[in-house]
Amino acid sequence: MENCLFCKIAGGKEDSDTVYKDENVVAIRDINPQAPIHFLIIPRKHIPTLMDIEGRDKELMGSVFTVAKKLAEENDLEMSGFRVVVNCGSGAGQSVFHIHFHMLGGRPMKWPPG
Ligand code: AMP
Ligand code: ZN
Repeated sequence: MENCLFCKIAGGKEDSDTVYKDENVVAIRDINPQAPIHFLIIPRKHIPTLMDIEGRDKELMGSVFTVAKKLAEENDLEMSGFRVVVNCGSGAGQSVFHIHFHMLGGRPMKWPPG
């Protein structure tokens, strides 16, 4: 979709620090990291928010977690733990309206998140 930052990043039209890509998903380093490791796992398909997911997106959503597992293994996060978060809607802090999964690790995590 035109004028969508994450569509541009997924299409290689905007610079990013890419840590993973396949035909359905890309993962990049967040430009404003909130932890020593902060990746954004981004389905290439333009889905604005979690509320816009459809039944046919089931496999795509599953593949996001397969990518998270792979990135956890590559970054030695299995033992220390990590968090995968989706902000849905501006009230939850979503600022880019193309669905993405924050993957945070490399420091202790507090609960509940603010
Ligand atoms: P959210 O607020 O949940 O929509 O998350 C959007 C995230 O995208 C924020 O953590 C931003 O720091 C991050 N972000 C914004 N622009 C870029 C960019 N050009 N490259 C990488 N991350 C970005
Ligand atoms: Zn998009």
